[in-house]
Amino acid sequence: MAIYDPKSLRAEDFINDEEIKATLAYAEENKNNLELINQILEKARPQKTANGHVCAGLTHREASVLLACDIPEIVEKIYKIAEEIKLAFYGNRIVLFAPLYLSNYCVNGCVYCPYHYKNKHIPRKKLTQEEVKAEVIALQDMGHKRLAIESGEDPVNNPIEYILDCIKTIYSVHHKNGDIRRVNVNIAATTVENYKKLKEAGIGTYILFQETYHKESYEKLHPTGPKHNYAYHTEAMDRAMEGGIDDVGLGVLFGLELYKYEFAGLIMHAEHLEAVHGVGPHTISVPRIKKADDIDPNVFDNSISDEIFAKITACIRLAVPYTGLIISTRESEKVRSKLLKLGVSQVSGGSRTSVGGYAGYTPEERPHDTEQFDVSDQRSLDEVVRWLINNGHIPSFCTACYREGRTGDRFMSLCKSGQILNCCHPNALMTLSEYLEDYASKETKEAGYKMIEEELKKIPKDKVRQIATDNIRDIRNSNRRDFRF
Ligand code: SF4
Ligand code: SF4
Repeated sequence: MAIYDPKSLRAEDFINDEEIKATLAYAEENKNNLELINQILEKARPQKTANGHVCAGLTHREASVLLACDIPEIVEKIYKIAEEIKLAFYGNRIVLFAPLYLSNYCVNGCVYCPYHYKNKHIPRKKLTQEEVKAEVIALQDMGHKRLAIESGEDPVNNPIEYILDCIKTIYSVHHKNGDIRRVNVNIAATTVENYKKLKEAGIGTYILFQETYHKESYEKLHPTGPKHNYAYHTEAMDRAMEGGIDDVGLGVLFGLELYKYEFAGLIMHAEHLEAVHGVGPHTISVPRIKKADDIDPNVFDNSISDEIFAKITACIRLAVPYTGLIISTRESEKVRSKLLKLGVSQVSGGSRTSVGGYAGYTPEERPHDTEQFDVSDQRSLDEVVRWLINNGHIPSFCTACYREGRTGDRFMSLCKSGQILNCCHPNALMTLSEYLEDYASKETKEAGYKMIEEELKKIPKDKVRQIATDNIRDIRNSNRRDFRF
């Protein structure tokens, strides 16, 4: 019999169905309890300290009460606090990345994904190392420095050795002034041994979406293949951490199950990682189910509106203030604009969600044959960068923490130390300057340098400001790159 225990290593204990149901009942009972709600909001608010800000975060029960509350003024307050937290810990920076699809061979039967093995009309493709190289050059030519590699699960076509070879190739390509400085990896749950190999290959975050925390639905949605095993999938992050990877990324595919259930499960998963490993998830992604070959999102009857989606995002921000929040190009420009204010800290840009979708295509051309999902935001990276600048967000290509070994709890202590304005802020400005020099259109370049000029003034320490200013001058006048604090 499973008993709720965040410290247990058994999926059924730390994502305990009874506890989730009790949480949902508690949230429902208290969704109009203003006294309690105001206490929770007060707890979530960032507190100023001598060194910056600290935030208490929320338990899954507290956060679920906020999510259940429909009182418009309270929802507004949730949004406001989400924005305060975002500004306190992430400033106005938004980190950019792109996905790179390596292979769509897959032995699993996930019913919501066009790569499921029964789909016989989707072409199957796997990049050769030469093709990986071509994709990376195309991504570097756009200006990307940070990738998330994606691959289906297939021990014959995409064994771990193939993934490791691809990572090696990606890091080895230096085209013009470009390089990929952080490779995050989104591949199927695997063994501690394989996680160790990924760690040795120098990966950034290991990302694995849970899809749904509801065990029964999980088993129905994953009827065949190794992914069918709920416990093996749910306990993957513990194995990854045991293998030495301390930055892990969670996510659920909203729309598969009831969102309140998923939300409670997601926060419980974060609590579990904190309780067992002393460090919560590095990132949380909030994908929503989308149309794709063989997939009609309307058959999933738990789809959520833009309003609820925004509320979920804001409540995650309040519950886990130090975790990066990622939104992909699955969402439209309009939705992304709204979520950026509610605590999102990373977005993808110029994405192609097909295998081999970058090299050999113009920005307007978009191959659809092997797409995993429909991209709603189809703008180029240059357009996304300019849009962020025009909306007061600093586009950042920073990868400094990972390269300075500030991962896991060392990254968290940077986040909590109040040094963001002396560290992330100049790093964002220097990497933006690299982008503007090497890849931007004239219009983006003008807007970007105007922003850099203003934002440099906000660096508190004189010495840091001076170094950042000098480095940016060097970037503009030479081919020197990759400065970082
Ligand atoms: S979601 Fe992943 S594991 Fe499932 S079919 Fe798609 S690629 Fe395969
Ligand atoms: S310095 Fe670290 S935390 Fe700050 S933006 Fe760069 S990678 Fe992120």
